[in-house]
Amino acid sequence: MSNQLLDRVVAEIADEMAQRADRGAVASYIPELARVDPRRFGLVVIDAAGHVAAAGDADVPFSIQSISKVFTLTLALGKAGDRLWRRVGREPSGSAFNSIVQLEHERGIPRNPFINAGAIAVTDLILSGHQPREALGEILRFLQFLAGDSSIVIDDAVAKSEQRTGFRNAALANYMKSFGVLDNPVEYTLGVYFHHCAIAMSCRQLAMAGRFLAHNGQNPSTGHNVVSSERARRINALMLTCGHYDGSGEFAYRVGLPGKSGVGGGVLAVAPGNASIAVWAPGLDAAGNSHLGRVALEALTKRMGWSIFGV
Ligand code: GLN
Repeated sequence: MSNQLLDRVVAEIADEMAQRADRGAVASYIPELARVDPRRFGLVVIDAAGHVAAAGDADVPFSIQSISKVFTLTLALGKAGDRLWRRVGREPSGSAFNSIVQLEHERGIPRNPFINAGAIAVTDLILSGHQPREALGEILRFLQFLAGDSSIVIDDAVAKSEQRTGFRNAALANYMKSFGVLDNPVEYTLGVYFHHCAIAMSCRQLAMAGRFLAHNGQNPSTGHNVVSSERARRINALMLTCGHYDGSGEFAYRVGLPGKSGVGGGVLAVAPGNASIAVWAPGLDAAGNSHLGRVALEALTKRMGWSIFGV
């Protein structure tokens, strides 16, 4: 199935991004991520008919980092349903992704599943009743299934790099543990968390994996029902309000789509009914979100008329 308009828009945007000098700075607090070339750029859009429009480094795997939190949230909701909301909230934080301040005021309950503290609490729930290796295998297999691609792996160097330096995440986990919010040994939960953040995927694989969110919980090509339409809608709502941390308001204002960023420079965005979109540009803005990723998505939604708030 062809979509010439989409192909043209995606190619145009990739060309425009290649000319830009403003790229932001790659994440350096995870040493392994500091080595990534800031000139990388990939964009893949998969429309409702399954047409794939791809440009730039569309097939180069990168560290998905916090984008993994969308998929761990989906798995945890499948396991615990609404019980999940006893240990994590659903409000935007207005704070940095690794902030600890609100945990003190809210008795160790993180604001939402996408800030680090919230994602660690979600990971702890997935881990319960399993060995860390099994929990990690479940997360990885879920992504392989969604993307229809069994070649997706964890980048062990990135996981180890974060394990050596992730003192802030260790602080968050220990703090939550002191309030009884985590059930498992902190080092196990953190180990699974660091490893799922270190999953490496290309824009093509990521856009494939996000299709169920764009189409009421179903992958339209395979007919697989991943989650109910209600659950897909709610995950999208959380991505819109919390997916870019304290940059979520700006992302909604400029792009107008549910989206989830990662400090590897990737963004997964969902145009409900229209498309699943993955973009990768490693340079970040001050809130830790991909700078050119946001610029590219703003251009895409404008030209395609895909903002959920109107054309
Ligand atoms: N693994 C990263 C961390 O915990 C994820 C953060 C992100 O992508 N925003 O710091």
